[in-house]
Amino acid sequence: MKINCLGCGFKLDLDEAYDDYDGPVKCFACEAILEIRTEQGYIKAVQQENAVMHPSAARVLERGRNRAKEVA
Ligand SMILES: [Zn+2]
Repeated sequence: MKINCLGCGFKLDLDEAYDDYDGPVKCFACEAILEIRTEQGYIKAVQQENAVMHPSAARVLERGRNRAKEVA
C-alpha cells in the first residue's frame, strides 16, 4: 500500500502490517508524522501531525478533523 506524504509528496510504501492500522507513520523523506487509518489494505484517512504547529493552524486542523468524523 502506498500513501503520499502530505508534507513533501513522497510516496511511502507500507507493508501488510499497515493493512489494518490506525496511528502515526513517519515520512522517510521529510520526517513528518502522518496520522493514518486503514482497513483491509485501503486507506481511510491521512492527516498530517505537526508538533510545532502554530496554535491557530492547529485549530484549523482540528475543525477539519471534526468534519472528517461527520462524513465518516
Ligand atoms: Zn514527507
